[in-house]
Amino acid sequence: MLVLVINCGSSSVKYDLIETKLEKGICKGIIERIGAVTSIIKHQPENGKTVKDTKAINNHSEALQEIMNYLLSPENQIVNSPSDIKAVGHRVVHGGEMFKDSVLIEDNVLEAIEQAIDLAPLHNPPNLKGIQAAQKYLPDVPHVAVFDTAFHHSLPAEAYLYGIPNRLYRRYKIRKYGFHGTSHYFVSRQFYKLTNKPVEETKVISCHLGNGASIAAIKGGKSIDTSMGFTPLSGLVMGTRCGDIDPSILFYLVEKEELPLNNLHALLNRHSGLLGLSGYAADMRDLIAEAKNGDRRCQQAIDVFCYKVKQHIGSYMASMNGCDAILFTAGIGENSPLIRSKSLANLNFMGIEIDEEKNNAVKSGVLTKISTDDSPVAVYVVPTNEELVIAIDAAKIAQASAQSPWI
Ligand code: ADP
Repeated sequence: MLVLVINCGSSSVKYDLIETKLEKGICKGIIERIGAVTSIIKHQPENGKTVKDTKAINNHSEALQEIMNYLLSPENQIVNSPSDIKAVGHRVVHGGEMFKDSVLIEDNVLEAIEQAIDLAPLHNPPNLKGIQAAQKYLPDVPHVAVFDTAFHHSLPAEAYLYGIPNRLYRRYKIRKYGFHGTSHYFVSRQFYKLTNKPVEETKVISCHLGNGASIAAIKGGKSIDTSMGFTPLSGLVMGTRCGDIDPSILFYLVEKEELPLNNLHALLNRHSGLLGLSGYAADMRDLIAEAKNGDRRCQQAIDVFCYKVKQHIGSYMASMNGCDAILFTAGIGENSPLIRSKSLANLNFMGIEIDEEKNNAVKSGVLTKISTDDSPVAVYVVPTNEELVIAIDAAKIAQASAQSPWI
């Protein structure tokens, strides 16, 4: 089934056209800087030349129109008619407590996503805009919402409750939700294909280390804990997000710097993390390069990043009483032998031993085992594919809804 996957940020729309039966990408692309004087457009057909362009794209609706025009243009020979696209899968960041699985988008679902804006003010509004725009250009196909939070619905109360008055959870649903669910789900499934153990007996730690970064403890196929929380701000140190900090720092800062709330929000979301620590860059490649040149603060930022990864791995080993495999994925996890090695250094007492030769020889996009043959805990680099998870879920739901109006 041909499925269009849409992932909308506040000023960007990413898309992937996927043939789900073959699990094959047909064309992907991104429109960035929506609303700026010049937006940047990139289309990458699987069997054709990458097209780059700039023009003014004012909003998400115009971005979707641009994408549809490209896909349907006879000279590009990608899609003959809109009816060839059988479903649209939308990445929705926050599904709140309501959505434990992907769902067909109907009016009540749109309302619920809107209600969750309160929980994800940065993410859910552009997700909604993307849904509305795609419905305009593809009105006759099923649209499906796939939530970043859904995979973590299996967290037990001891993992998702914070140590604050319980009435705040009851009244405002303040709890840990967790994110990157589609990625943690995908990479853990890749590991299950490699092991003879029944899934119910497996224990996996999945490390999604990209610009945004999170770790999940997955026991018997279900997420039982994860590092992000009420929002994607907590847990690991990320590109520009602070990760876990003592909440008292906020009171202190408000007093000392007389910061209004929105500045505090920007400080912790956009000016902290690797960028804030290094005072140089959010991009791990830049930090590694500068640290090699002797920059002390870039080195410190790398050290803090890896220490947090190590701490979470140790804590999830404790939560699960050991683990069978540690999986590294996303931009940093897939591409940086240095960060993998540093994060797992001196964990041999836990049965984790990296083979540095294998670690250094990982090829981009190739699932690779990097632990020694004797290491009790296996360590893999697993390329993630969140878009494929979204496409497959959308195809399944579209197929079912075609059979019965009650689904
Ligand atoms: P996003 O969360 O935006 O999807 P990605 O998964 O694309 O992020 O990861 C982006 C991060 O991956 C950046 O910090 C980038 O520097 C890092 N990265 C990509 N390639 C490498 C590499 N070869 N070595 C170290 N870091 C890398």
